[in-house]
Amino acid sequence: MEKIKMTTPLVEMDGDEMTRILWKMIKDELILPFVDLKSEYYDLGLPNRDKTNDKVTIDSANAARKYGVAVKCATITPNAQRMDEYHLHKMWKSPNGTIRSIMDGTVFRAPITIPSIRPVVKNWEQPITIARHAYGDVYKSVEIRADEPGVAKLVFEGKSGKKQEVEIHNFDGAGVIQGMHNTDKSITSFAHSCFKFAIDTKQDLWFATKDTISKTYDAQFRQIFEEVYEKDYKQEFEKLGIEYFYTLIDDAVARVIRSKGGFIWACKNYDGDVMSDMLSTAFGSLAMMTSVLVSPDGKYEYEAAHGTVTRHYYKYLKGEETSTNPMATIFAWSGALRKRGELDNIKELVEFGDKLEQACLDTLNSGIATKDLVNLMEGVEAKQANSDEFIAAIRKNLEVSLSK
Ligand code: NAD
Repeated sequence: MEKIKMTTPLVEMDGDEMTRILWKMIKDELILPFVDLKSEYYDLGLPNRDKTNDKVTIDSANAARKYGVAVKCATITPNAQRMDEYHLHKMWKSPNGTIRSIMDGTVFRAPITIPSIRPVVKNWEQPITIARHAYGDVYKSVEIRADEPGVAKLVFEGKSGKKQEVEIHNFDGAGVIQGMHNTDKSITSFAHSCFKFAIDTKQDLWFATKDTISKTYDAQFRQIFEEVYEKDYKQEFEKLGIEYFYTLIDDAVARVIRSKGGFIWACKNYDGDVMSDMLSTAFGSLAMMTSVLVSPDGKYEYEAAHGTVTRHYYKYLKGEETSTNPMATIFAWSGALRKRGELDNIKELVEFGDKLEQACLDTLNSGIATKDLVNLMEGVEAKQANSDEFIAAIRKNLEVSLSK
């Protein structure tokens, strides 16, 4: 079988611990035998980030901007314990945060679903994709503990000399105050990423805020989404038969629970933080959650939503067998290769992405699964496989489907 040729390099961001081990296994078994892989490789493993003073992370993000498609392995975000473990020069920032700010992107997370793992919410038939605005609001807020009576005010001093001032509260005792912000630029980017992704995946887009209470702040989110939709995306949505739907956040939550799924739910920063954990748990397992960062000008970075699975790595280092689930990492590869194929008009690469995913699903549907899934599966006789066996079973299915 001739290997599939690529024209533009895929930006490959390697990572840490157990996912780094899986990364190599996935490449060796499921990608390299079939695809003449053209990639620009960046080692984002913590030792190399430390060695390059984190320059490698910035370079990789710039490469993703340049070429348009990247695939990333999970990476360690250092804390005090990791400083000692890896003898680091500095507590380097989260690579995902760095990449996100360079790509100015929005993260979309969607669960991989299979018939034998039923979501906790029984009427969900299709995955629900969550899009979280990853800038501002309470995550960039400032706070004051007021420990005596007094007046709190919100003041804006414009560059022009214009001044706006409102009283927040006249305290007759102690209390707390918080100031937060967002920018039209960031909200607009968020809106563009969401509408583009909805068109890309041909799904409805839902967006919700609390603009009945927050008549300026949340209303600005609603208004920007509406304007961006009317101006740039309405026609395309109508052509595809998909819908943009705005509602209040409380109404959205109720409707999500009663829905059949199959749409994108755009969330403000805090809502997205909370709701994405709710969704991934309700759909089954963190190891089955895919994640893609999409920039407003259509650049993509695919990854798994989970971390480096440290506990399994320490077992692996002791020579013990592990049953780490590679699904979300494989789907990062298939998603990135399919997108590369779409952008470069390489039909075989698009089909390869689809077939790789189907081979994974066929493997699970036949009952072969990693430990985290075995107990969740119903209606099939599930057999626990270690990571090697699981990937080998996927390869077998993939070979059959590619030879057809
Ligand atoms: P984690 O996602 O690695 O693990 C959380 C829990 O889920 C663990 O119980 C783990 O065993 C289980 N789990 C996750 N993925 C699994 C898989 N594929 N197969 C089987 N079980 C799986 O998160 P953590 O333990 O909080 O963090 C570990 C490291 O990962 C930290 O250093 C953190 O900085 C990093 N991290 C990276 C990313 C990223 O790069 N996107 C995201 C989260 C955490």
